[in-house]
Amino acid sequence: MINQLVEMSRKYGSNPEYVLAGGGNTSCKDENYLYVKGSGTSLATIEAEGFVQLDRKALGDMWKKTYSENEAEREAQVLEDMMSARCPGNEHKRPSVETLLHNLFDKKFVLHVHPAIVNGLTCAKNGEAEAKRLFPEAVWVQPTKPGYILSNECRKVIEAYKEVNGKEPEIIFLQNHGIFFAADTLERIDELAEGVMSTLNNEAKRFPDFETIETKTPEEVKAVLEELFGGVVIFENNNEISKFSSDKENALPLLNSFTPDHIVYCKAYPLFVENAEDIRAEYENYEKKNGFKAKVVILKGTGMFFIGANEKDANTCRVVFTDAMKIAVYSESFGGYEHMTPDLIDFIVNWEVEAYRSKVNSGE
Ligand SMILES: [Zn+2]
Repeated sequence: MINQLVEMSRKYGSNPEYVLAGGGNTSCKDENYLYVKGSGTSLATIEAEGFVQLDRKALGDMWKKTYSENEAEREAQVLEDMMSARCPGNEHKRPSVETLLHNLFDKKFVLHVHPAIVNGLTCAKNGEAEAKRLFPEAVWVQPTKPGYILSNECRKVIEAYKEVNGKEPEIIFLQNHGIFFAADTLERIDELAEGVMSTLNNEAKRFPDFETIETKTPEEVKAVLEELFGGVVIFENNNEISKFSSDKENALPLLNSFTPDHIVYCKAYPLFVENAEDIRAEYENYEKKNGFKAKVVILKGTGMFFIGANEKDANTCRVVFTDAMKIAVYSESFGGYEHMTPDLIDFIVNWEVEAYRSKVNSGE
């Protein structure tokens, strides 16, 4: 079973249509144990040891407990219980933040990913209605705080679905987040995933166009950003970037966050700058206003700058923000983009667990 889990994880983890950065997680289970991806490991290269073995009963019993009303306290308590549910020999591993959600399914294999085209649907104004039309068997979960609250929301939705249909759902769409596939065989997982991807590809009216536009790198701007952030800056321009950065109005779909991953790797908001000469002042203002430094700067009529502590971090930022551009484009086919709510964005910004994942990913 673990070998099959490794196979499924590597297959989807190495396909950029499905998985970016350290994102996505997988699991398998028997009656007693859940094997779920460890936090900070990458699906593409995962080994059997990359999974954490947990006691399913201990995880299930967590639903009988009452946790603190205070957010930070609650997440700490939940994490502690999750850690205690680890089986002997797993003490050095930290289970994925979405572990409780994996355990909700009785189905043997669970694949959780955040593909751009799927999020074009989950981050769209008509996403829920379109999902009902295209995937009547699937369920849709409203955006909520990640971790315990999201798992609890999914638990209720799954229970309600079981009441009506007498079986578990195989597909769960999470608004402004991603998708879960659950099945007893890998063949069925593949069938479900391919079905969703091909249906959405057929529905898409426009596809992102990332053909490079040869643009002289604005070295002075780049140098200022490297100095202010204290890291590495990648400049890029292409057909899609040029469209989004032509003026602030066109950049609107990108000026707020679509999913938690975008916040973790690119910060909650990019900085849009009209004039190159204002770059220093605007970058410093942004930091004063938000309490953190911008990781993406859009320079009107010129292109985008992706910033990180090192080359790898800057490139991850570029890849994940490019994903946001894809989502913005795909959402056009489903009624237009819809960002996360400001409340939710604030919550993620302050979320310790995600910060941990981001740290592990940048190799800190
Ligand atoms: Zn997720």
